Amino acid sequence: MKVVKFGGSSIASATQFKKVHDIVLEDTDRHYVVPSAPGKRNKEDTKVTDLLILAYSHHNKDDFEEIYDRIKARYNGIITELGLDISLEEDFKEIKEEIKKQNSFDYTISRGEYLNGKVLANYLGFDFIDAADVIYIDKHGRYDEKKTDAALTKALSEHDYAVVPGFYGQLNDESGRIKAFSRGGSDVTGSIVAKCACADLYENWTDVSGFLIADPRIVKDPKPIATITYKELRELSYMGASVLHQNSIFPVRNEGIPILIKNTNSPEDAGTLIVESTCHKPDHVITGIAGKKDFMSIYVYKKHMSNEVGFIRKALSILEKYHISIEHIPSGIDSFNIVVEKKEIEESLYEILAHFKDELKPDKLTVQEDLALISTVGKNMSDKPGTSGKLFGALGKNNINIVMIAQGSDEINITVGVKKKDFTKTVQVIYDTFVGGNEE
Ligand code: ASP
Repeated sequence: MKVVKFGGSSIASATQFKKVHDIVLEDTDRHYVVPSAPGKRNKEDTKVTDLLILAYSHHNKDDFEEIYDRIKARYNGIITELGLDISLEEDFKEIKEEIKKQNSFDYTISRGEYLNGKVLANYLGFDFIDAADVIYIDKHGRYDEKKTDAALTKALSEHDYAVVPGFYGQLNDESGRIKAFSRGGSDVTGSIVAKCACADLYENWTDVSGFLIADPRIVKDPKPIATITYKELRELSYMGASVLHQNSIFPVRNEGIPILIKNTNSPEDAGTLIVESTCHKPDHVITGIAGKKDFMSIYVYKKHMSNEVGFIRKALSILEKYHISIEHIPSGIDSFNIVVEKKEIEESLYEILAHFKDELKPDKLTVQEDLALISTVGKNMSDKPGTSGKLFGALGKNNINIVMIAQGSDEINITVGVKKKDFTKTVQVIYDTFVGGNEE
């Protein structure tokens, strides 16, 4: 049994609806469908969720009617083109009134999925289950597992084939109000539905054929990743590979349900399978490469620092006071670097340096700006001696100066820090070394 989620661009127009229709109905194992709101039909287009946000903030402005008509036109266009026997006029009226009253932002932004779910259920001939009746979300946007499990499992058992709109649920208090997940949250709904349906597979249909080994904006035609473990995925997404909504992993992972990323526009492509573990031997030692550009490193040197107990703790507690989270702390005998994301520290950098001076009395205190971090991730690196040697050797040969090195303790990740100007070259060299023509 499969649960299938379709992202916004997969379901943005009547043409896309037809593709979704064929995909869902060609496999009778696809019992439950979770749609996003209609996304962009082309680069210049606006997502329905963004139009709803705009309508909410323009509720008393002259252009409100025009914005609201654009939302209505998106759905009416799909309904007319598909020749469906459904009218959303009552819903449009009610939603407009609610927006005018400014009752609830979350209610407003959730209507994109709600309306799309109704249209899709009608088109597929599936039942419609309103997510507000079966998914409970607290005020911080986290779902209440116990309450949701009870309500959703029961609802699913009563409907053999159904559409459950993504992105929202009911606020977990007695108010009965609507609460949305954070943006991109339909992935989370899909994962929760897969969990409660005890699905064999959670298919996440989008507009790319799965994950690629490297960012295609940097590396030309990177190869796709056929299988990846949840752990590897976590490392890559933390380092900027834009993938699934972060919270969509946990519900299915805990139940041992794999996720398959598929392309609605190219359904014959294999896609990427995300699993807990696999004996599948990949073609390459590494699984993927991801990186982020804007980091900064604070270098602290003090003679005989190694004899001063609690020295690093003092530095870290200064950063803690400023709520700055730390990426890495590579250290030497009498020195250490603290690597942080630039946007986190920028505002308070000078104050923090002043505290460092006063409280740590370092012999040397410098800041290295424009640092980029690149992570090379792969579970197979851990039992392959020489991987890091090969990586560092290749960077050296290409004149890339490594500013920092960190290896995760589970040995599935080697992170190098380089100057920002060397970022793209570093990603390319690593790709060529392990995946491209130069692999030994
Ligand atoms: N429609 C929502 C958004 O644009 C949720 C989603 O697509 O997953 O963020």
